[in-house]
Amino acid sequence: MRLAPLTRSVIRRLRRIGPVALLVLLTALLIGAAAFRASETAGLAALRETGRHRLDLYAASLEREIDKYAFFPATLELERDVLDLAAGRPAPKADVNRFLERLNQRTGTLAIYVMNAQGRVVASSNWNRPDSFIGEDLFYRPYFIAAAAGRPGRFYGIGTTRNEPGYFLSSTLIDNGEIVGVAVVKVSLEQLERSWATVEAPVLVVDENGVAILASVPSWRYSTLRPLDGAERQRLERTLQYNARPLPPLGLAPVRQLSDDAELVRLPAEARTEADAASPFAISGLVLAQKAPLHGTPWSMTVLSPVAPVTAMAWAHAALSAVGSALVGMLALLWRQHRRHLRALRHANDALERKVEERTRHLRAAQGELVHAGKLAVIGQMSAGLAHELNQPLAALRTLSGNTVKFLQRGKLEAAQDNLERIGQLVDRMGALTGELKRFARKSTGAPQPVAVGRVIGNALFLLDARLNRTAVAVTVEAADDAVALCDANRLEQVLVNLLTNALDALADAPDPAITIAASRQTDRVRVTVADNGPGLSDTARDRLFEPFFTTKDVGKDGGKETETGGGLGLGLAISAGIVRDFGGTLSGTNGPDGGALFAIDLPAAPDPAAPDPVIDTPNRANA
Ligand code: ADP
Repeated sequence: MRLAPLTRSVIRRLRRIGPVALLVLLTALLIGAAAFRASETAGLAALRETGRHRLDLYAASLEREIDKYAFFPATLELERDVLDLAAGRPAPKADVNRFLERLNQRTGTLAIYVMNAQGRVVASSNWNRPDSFIGEDLFYRPYFIAAAAGRPGRFYGIGTTRNEPGYFLSSTLIDNGEIVGVAVVKVSLEQLERSWATVEAPVLVVDENGVAILASVPSWRYSTLRPLDGAERQRLERTLQYNARPLPPLGLAPVRQLSDDAELVRLPAEARTEADAASPFAISGLVLAQKAPLHGTPWSMTVLSPVAPVTAMAWAHAALSAVGSALVGMLALLWRQHRRHLRALRHANDALERKVEERTRHLRAAQGELVHAGKLAVIGQMSAGLAHELNQPLAALRTLSGNTVKFLQRGKLEAAQDNLERIGQLVDRMGALTGELKRFARKSTGAPQPVAVGRVIGNALFLLDARLNRTAVAVTVEAADDAVALCDANRLEQVLVNLLTNALDALADAPDPAITIAASRQTDRVRVTVADNGPGLSDTARDRLFEPFFTTKDVGKDGGKETETGGGLGLGLAISAGIVRDFGGTLSGTNGPDGGALFAIDLPAAPDPAAPDPVIDTPNRANA
């Protein structure tokens, strides 16, 4: 059951690669067919080679066996009595018969006999048996005809008397240059077939008539390899060569001629005889028939090697190659798919990375613009604050100067002097404010420098002095002397002003408003915190604190409520975070342990805390 999804996914995949898979399968089939062909060709070549060896071996051993008896009949010529008997001269007939009988026993042949020049048997090894050859006229036998003509006779035939097949070897008996008779030795087939005791493939010997006279499969004996015509049959019947045996065709069906001496033939799948059962060979199906002449005889020998093992091997090779190549093809296909997926993934990844890069670039640009906008916003805030700050003294100046003129007209010089002194004080205060503005507008020096954070806190508080004086906020500063950060004093001040302004905004309705500012050094970092006891950050505010334009303040709200920052633009923290990040630091905001917001600036510390910012030197105006 758990395999089902796997199978389904495999099927889906296969369906997707269907046409290509079909191509792979077809190719695999073709490769299988080619492998079958190649294996069959190689197998047949090997089979032919083995067959040829067998043929040579079996033929040689059969020839040796025949040669053993070849000169045997000629030796009888050496016996005087034999010659006399053949020639019809007085001779001890009984002695010759016994001599032949003993000789026959010694050599293990079927019969040895002597004929006179007319073809009549005059002495025989089987003289004392009822079916003795003695007195028989065998002038028609080819071996007699050959020997009578002075040639050695070789003849295979079935005996007419005892119906016993045998190989007849004959030799002329010559006495004083005159042919007096013929000596014959009959060798049994079993004797010849003895040489086949060790053959590994069915073998048969075919005589000059195309009749199988020797065969390792018994039922093949006296069958013909080629059809006999009527005349031939008649001739054979006349000579009684096979003693009236039926001579059926063996039924070899030719399949393919491979060469002159090698042919593929099919053996009929006929029932085996009882004698065949003893034969160790398969005697049906496709076989490789190889033929060679037997020297010294008009016969030929044929070895039949079964082709079935070659075919089986070829099928095995074909199956192996087809399955193997299909497997390799499929693997290659899957690998290609896999590579394609990987490529697609890589492309997608590249595209994503490009998008991220582009987005980052846009964000950087946006951030730059925001910083710029933030600067403008701060200027706006400052202008609003400044206008507010300057309006009051200006109104007072107007009133005072008007009063002073009246005092002078009335001659109240003391009161006029008093007024003029107050006017001087107001002008001084206004001068201080514009001076402060000038200092705020001072360009940052760019490269980070060692900055004493305590001093920057003092400057920021001074900038907010007027607002702090108007409210009842208690400000506590805990700045350590070694809190010297590597940054830009003006920009850090801008950040602190922003944090303090936010704190003051948050404390507008707080019962006992208080702000605690702390700066401390921790090895290579300086940590500055600004904490208030206002309402703290809401969940949404905490999540979106540094998001540009996130604000909870009413836009454009001014002096009416104590925000005094020109209303919430939602840019302050975003810009501040950017500035701190430029220093290589971080700005974070959370809620303090006693409620109220707690902002922390983390900055890289200056290596030598004893060398603080040399540029800014404004008195510390923190009111504790
Ligand atoms: P703005 O002050 O213009 O609203 P900021 O980025 O400075 O923009 O602040 C964003 C928001 O963060 C504020 O609107 C406010 O809701 C919240 N916030 C900042 N500081 C504090 C604080 N000390 N206490 C409570 N809320 C704060």
